Amino acid sequence: MNNCIFCKIRDGKIPKDFTYEDDYVMVFPDIKPLKPVHLLIVPKKHVTEFLELSDDLLTVKLREIIKKMIKQEGLSNRGYRFSINGGGYQLVNHLHIHLLGPMS
Ligand code: 5GP
Ligand code: ZN
Repeated sequence: MNNCIFCKIRDGKIPKDFTYEDDYVMVFPDIKPLKPVHLLIVPKKHVTEFLELSDDLLTVKLREIIKKMIKQEGLSNRGYRFSINGGGYQLVNHLHIHLLGPMS
């Protein structure tokens, strides 16, 4: 997708250290973290926003990566939040899940 910052990150046009990566999903720290852990969990496929997410396999992958990152980042017992902005409230029009913590 032209001019999409997360597609550029996926394609290596903007260098980024990935916290996690597989064929479907990439994970990297938010550039402006709101908590000590603030990751963006991003499908590699350009899905514009949550309302456009229809791929069942990708949905399951995202769920599993959210769980994996919660555990990997040591948030299982310290409080976490994940969230998706949409409906025009989002800044980046490429679906991404914010994972934040610890909350306590
Ligand atoms: P949202 O679209 O959910 O409102 O937020 C987009 C998020 O992406 C923001 O928290 C912003 O800090 C983050 N962000 C925007 N551009 C970049 C970037 O180039 N690299 C990284 N790591 N995060 C970004
Ligand atoms: Zn994109």
